[in-house]
Amino acid sequence: MSGAETHTTGRILKAHRSLTYGLGRRMTMYFGLMIGAFVTTLIYLNTITQLELVHTRFSERSDSLGILIQEVTLPYLFDNRPAELDIIYQELMRQPDILSLKFVDPEGYLLVNGASDGNALFLGRTEDPLVELALASETTQIVSEDDRIQVAVPALYGNVNYGTIRFDLDGSAANREVDLVLRRNLMFGVFFTLTGILLSVWISRRLTEPLARLNSATERAAKGNLNQSIVIRTNDEVESLAESFNLMLGNLRAWVKSLEDTQTKLEVSGRDLNAKNTELQVAVEQAKAAEKAKSQFLARMSHEIRTPMNGVLGMSELLADTDLSPNQHSLLESIHSSGSTLLHIINDILDFSKIDSGHMTIRETRFRPIDVIEGPAQMLAFQAAQAGVDILTRVEPDLPLTLLGDDARIQQVIINLVGNALKFTDDGYVLINATRKQEVEGEMLQIDVCDTGVGIPEESLSAVFDQFTQVDGSYSRKHQGTGLGLAIAKGFVELMGGRIWVKSELGTGTTFSFNIPIRTPDSKLPEQHIHTADLHNAKILVLQPEPTALFVMNEVLSEWNAQVATFSSPQDACAALQTAQSDGAPFDVVLTETKFTDFEEQKLRTDLDTALAGAATRVIAIRPIEDALVTEHHGVCTYDGELLKPVQTSKLLQAVQPENPAIHNDPQSEAENQRASPKTNARETIAEELSIAGSNKTILIVDDNKTNRRLIEIFLSRLGIPFLSANDGQEAVTQFEKAHPDLVLMDVSMPVMNGLDATREIRKLETHSGAQPSHIIGLTAHSAPEDRQACLDSGMNAHMAKPIKLNQLREVLRGI
Ligand code: ATP
Ligand code: MG
Repeated sequence: MSGAETHTTGRILKAHRSLTYGLGRRMTMYFGLMIGAFVTTLIYLNTITQLELVHTRFSERSDSLGILIQEVTLPYLFDNRPAELDIIYQELMRQPDILSLKFVDPEGYLLVNGASDGNALFLGRTEDPLVELALASETTQIVSEDDRIQVAVPALYGNVNYGTIRFDLDGSAANREVDLVLRRNLMFGVFFTLTGILLSVWISRRLTEPLARLNSATERAAKGNLNQSIVIRTNDEVESLAESFNLMLGNLRAWVKSLEDTQTKLEVSGRDLNAKNTELQVAVEQAKAAEKAKSQFLARMSHEIRTPMNGVLGMSELLADTDLSPNQHSLLESIHSSGSTLLHIINDILDFSKIDSGHMTIRETRFRPIDVIEGPAQMLAFQAAQAGVDILTRVEPDLPLTLLGDDARIQQVIINLVGNALKFTDDGYVLINATRKQEVEGEMLQIDVCDTGVGIPEESLSAVFDQFTQVDGSYSRKHQGTGLGLAIAKGFVELMGGRIWVKSELGTGTTFSFNIPIRTPDSKLPEQHIHTADLHNAKILVLQPEPTALFVMNEVLSEWNAQVATFSSPQDACAALQTAQSDGAPFDVVLTETKFTDFEEQKLRTDLDTALAGAATRVIAIRPIEDALVTEHHGVCTYDGELLKPVQTSKLLQAVQPENPAIHNDPQSEAENQRASPKTNARETIAEELSIAGSNKTILIVDDNKTNRRLIEIFLSRLGIPFLSANDGQEAVTQFEKAHPDLVLMDVSMPVMNGLDATREIRKLETHSGAQPSHIIGLTAHSAPEDRQACLDSGMNAHMAKPIKLNQLREVLRGI
């Protein structure tokens, strides 16, 4: 399509659109066309009818005139009196509308011409086609031409045609009538069409005007003018549309109003919110500052309290070495135990505040699951013995030998849980069970601490992990505590990526479980023989009253390829021993506990001997830990070996292996067992201390706290080790330059120069002079991993948490 064509089409479309746009215009057009067509058709039909009528009327007149003339004519023709006929014709022609009147005979000769000329007859032949037509058809012929109506009437009588009457009538009247009809109908047509158009305009206006009003109202509403209403009284759909429109506008107004109200409210609340936010921010800042201040305060306080505690505990230990009456001893024990409890609480509060403020960090080291399970068991052995409860430990053989994690924190959690279990269990056992579990999060190390204690009521279960919460919070409660233990345990476990939960049945017991993800180190620790031990099918009989203890023992020994028979009653065990003996397959080892209800140890020993009947079976006793403190017991029954509860796996292996026949004289194990107990036999300890005396090592003690310094000085004097003292880091550096001590015990927080800076100075001096580096041990009240790390970073060799124990110092001196 060319450009010009497109332009034209566009113009036409535009014109069409402008012409047909709008309902009113379109209705007018359609109505107009319809009315026009209708009126035209009507007028046309009317005109035709009227013309027909005019024509018929004139035809009829012609016919009747023809008949009349014929009636008049025929007698004259019969009588052959044409002249008279002519006269009659002349008379007839006086009729105003008759223009001519003739009679033509059948041969075409004019017989009468209606004129008074006297020559009426046989005037001549006429050539008139109309006459010929009438003659031929024998019917009246009428032709209208111009203003004349030509008529030819055949004069018939019987079967004879006497000729043709031929007359012309004046047609102008007919024409005038036709004109009149046409003009009148045209006028009517125009009038009706115009009226029709006007009517259609009026109707379409009437119909579309409310719509147009609605339309403009809608447009105004669309532009935002909602404060209007429209009144239409048409009693039809448009009226109800208008009402709906008004209703809609009303609703819209209400909504807009409520929207505006809401907006205003929002603005107000937004302002309030902003103000609140600002307040909140200030409050958060204040809270943070308060939190920081609290943490700092707690850290400082715990440090400040721990430092004198060091003195209190150390001095009380020293005092225990002196000659005291039994009463004084027991008072001193109370002082020591209260001091230890206080220190424990302070440590708990510090841990809790650190977890709470997000300052607690988790170390990652290699550890052996067996150590983290058996360590706490050993530590709490004496407490368990006092409570009359056995601690059992089990490490599932499935667990990897070494794992990665914070063993110290895991142990802390276990100690907390076992400590609780011992508090709330009067008899039975506490089992620490480490297993490997597949959870959705991955492989987990799960540790359960099950007890056979009082249990926790269902409704209190959810609250036990909350801080400062105790099931029995009354002042009269049996067990003391701050209610922080489980909150701390939960904090640690969650920090290590695990979770902790509890199940309990009142009167039956409680199981606290926690898990942490299993992560194994890339390289394994050198294989420990306890895991690969092989007892070469040695026959072992285990006699323990507690079925769970038997189960654990059976599992461990079976793991080492032993043939295990377990018994909970001495009679059954003795019977089994006898049977084995008589079968010629005696047991290699008997592991037996010493305390059975209704069965004296002495009798048990005798019965066993009788049953063994001199066989080479080794009998190893599993004793409660308190037996280790009462030396007189040893004289009563003798065994081939002795193990203390809770039995350590390594010790068990040593005891049952044939190549390690006896362990009851193992000084190391005795010492360790004694260490687990605060009821240390002081005199023996002093003797051991002195055993390393005589070494001529110089020690520099650096501490700003006089009591602490004095305490260490007394320790060292006892050990006969020469020492120097310094009050702060500066003094320590000066002393070091002078004396070059072998060991420096360096307090960390000190005035003038702190221990970390002093260590750096000392290390610098050593590098400068090329001297052998001395051993520097940091002493801090904080025992957190980061404190330890700060000490090592400054150049110290190790770190010790205050208060320093005699044993620790001795170990250190051994090490250098
Ligand atoms: P803290 O541990 O600070 O010295 P605590 O032992 O009272 O004090 P949690 O260790 O937090 O505090 O224990 C909270 C409470 O949960 C306990 O007081 C006790 O009521 C209940 N509970 C904990 N362990 C056991 C358990 N093994 N058997 C019965 N009740 C328990
Ligand atoms: Mg507790």
